[in-house]
Amino acid sequence: MAEDREPAVNISGGDAGGGVTAEFDPATADTRAEEVVDRLGELYWQKTYGGRDAFTCLVRTILSQNTSDKASQPAHDALVERYGGEGVDLAESLAAAEQSALAETISAAGLYNQKSEVLIDVAEWVLEEFGSAAAFDAFVKEEAPETVRETLLEVRGVGPKTADCVLLFAGGRAGVFPVDTHVHRIYRRLGIAPPDADHEEVRAVLEREVPAEKCGFGHTASIQFGREYCTARNPACLEDPDACPMGDLCDQVGVYPETGEVVDPADASN
Ligand code: SF4
Repeated sequence: MAEDREPAVNISGGDAGGGVTAEFDPATADTRAEEVVDRLGELYWQKTYGGRDAFTCLVRTILSQNTSDKASQPAHDALVERYGGEGVDLAESLAAAEQSALAETISAAGLYNQKSEVLIDVAEWVLEEFGSAAAFDAFVKEEAPETVRETLLEVRGVGPKTADCVLLFAGGRAGVFPVDTHVHRIYRRLGIAPPDADHEEVRAVLEREVPAEKCGFGHTASIQFGREYCTARNPACLEDPDACPMGDLCDQVGVYPETGEVVDPADASN
């Protein structure tokens, strides 16, 4: 049996938050994209999504922009310790925060000046539009996903990936496949999305071809796969054609084992 590499606690919320479970069986997949996600389901610890507080989730995702989880998690913990807590409305306390103090608190996440400004803006926006973090949470969980997404995208500092992560991790919404740099790279290398597709185009392909209940898992498992196997500079297949579990499903767009070269799929000649 494969070793369970992931934490025993479901960090993504779990069934209680409205997440849906899915069967991962590559033999019954209808599309190549679904087959990839099904194999990821065999490779990694499966989880369901939803149930996190939406504003905390938004804060967490903003902190993680342009940095690793390893760097942004301590920043998030420090922020929650200083500004959150039992009975505290995090949006209210961030809206009232002094920018330089907040920047110092989140310094581990990088780009802390910019991120602290965005966090204060977002907190003010939540209070103006919804009145409290709890009311914002209800909006994310109850409104139509497209309405939530469009509303979030109007806010400075919130891009498509951040909006989708809030929908997925807080709302537990099926059919949302956020595209980060790993997902963007992997599905163009596989030849599932066009080589020159931008993030939104890759998202559209995946949300069309992967069943709704598998999109959330597909997102996080693809990131893990991108870190372990299909890395940006040194994909597993470069030296050993059998080293990647997706080898037989992959077009290796922009990956050249003969010369050891790797280019962005948009610049590939194959
Ligand atoms: S075969 Fe290579 S390019 Fe394709 S998914 Fe695996 S590591 Fe990435």
